[in-house]
Amino acid sequence: MCYAIPGKITNIAGNIVTLDYFGEEKKARNEFYELSVNEYAYAQGGFIVSKIKEAEALAALEVWKELFSKLKEIDRRLAFGPKDMRQAANAVRQKHLGNACCVHGIIEFSNYCINDCLYCGIRNSNKKLKRYRMSEKEIADACDYAVNELGFKALVLQSGEDDWYTGEKLINIVSKVRKKCAALLILSIGERDLNIYKNLYDLGARAALLRFETSDGKLYEKYRPRHKLEDRLELIRQLRGMGYLIMTGFLIRAGENEEDIIKDIELTASLGAEMFSFGPFIPHPDTPLGRGTVCRAPTELLELSLNTIARARIMYPEARILATTALETLDKKNGIKNALLSGANSLMINVTPLKYQQFYDIYPRRAGAGVDFKKKIEDTVSMLRSLGRAPSDLGL
Ligand code: SAH
Repeated sequence: MCYAIPGKITNIAGNIVTLDYFGEEKKARNEFYELSVNEYAYAQGGFIVSKIKEAEALAALEVWKELFSKLKEIDRRLAFGPKDMRQAANAVRQKHLGNACCVHGIIEFSNYCINDCLYCGIRNSNKKLKRYRMSEKEIADACDYAVNELGFKALVLQSGEDDWYTGEKLINIVSKVRKKCAALLILSIGERDLNIYKNLYDLGARAALLRFETSDGKLYEKYRPRHKLEDRLELIRQLRGMGYLIMTGFLIRAGENEEDIIKDIELTASLGAEMFSFGPFIPHPDTPLGRGTVCRAPTELLELSLNTIARARIMYPEARILATTALETLDKKNGIKNALLSGANSLMINVTPLKYQQFYDIYPRRAGAGVDFKKKIEDTVSMLRSLGRAPSDLGL
């Protein structure tokens, strides 16, 4: 089991459970299980996602016991003696949140989209793209595989904004997935009706990934025709009010100035984001903002992205910050690693069925698309180990 360490329950106060991870205590909310002190559970995103038998927990802990202290030592060493902003951010991360790192799985279940965002390759007007939709069964099976075979404890279900998945269909999907999978379920389905979100929350979905893309209202309206920034922000606030954990953030644009980036980071935090998600904007040749451009590895944008992570970490020491696939796309070899060394402490692995991955073409040449899951997981786990990161939950 690579992506989570079981915690031993040391205290229960109402629905707040304290878990012990080799002497480190973290809190998590319990809404789904009967639990008592001295039992074992997995937590993700500050939620208890499954209860586990003592024998199973002890076997997993046996594997982690020595490794856990070794990892902490490596992590401490790598955060020692900061020299620049990124290293300083890494030291802040290490001091405030230790070596915990979330590894979420993501399933992109449809690339149809009613919107026409100027930056996005799956925009409605891109007629060159081959479209796909996964059936309810395909989605449930992919989640089942990700959680019960590959071991993920948190899963993002992402799509374009696709009305074909009616409220009823989404309800069926989430019910099926919840029945099969003990995992934190994160929705990334765009601006859907509040009632749909409410029904999905009631069925057990607990997080929503919805970026505001830019804090500049005028730019937002230009980038997202027929949309207003304030509507998106209001939806994010409503979802948070409903109880959803919020994952949000923005696109980092080449040449964007420091002041704008700080505004973007501040807006992310002011929305109460549980997880900050921002990645570089990569031009797509079949979109108005990318027409005629080729995807090179623009070092400047990569630097700006790593600095943005570092800045966010220094501004908000307790934040959960995602190392995004877009950043990995700019530097396939070291992008994620450098993001983690600049203050990030979460990442996602794409577990969309391989035959569909290449068609979720939001930007060209996405890192990891089409690569065998097990290989991707193995590489990620060994990279995390080299950095001394452990998959214990980051807590509440
Ligand atoms: N329908 C969902 C998911 C959209 S795709 C929603 O509306 O939230 C997820 C994210 O991909 C977007 O929020 C956007 O920030 C990012 N994205 C789109 N085009 C991109 C590009 N060219 N480069 C980098 N990121 C892009």
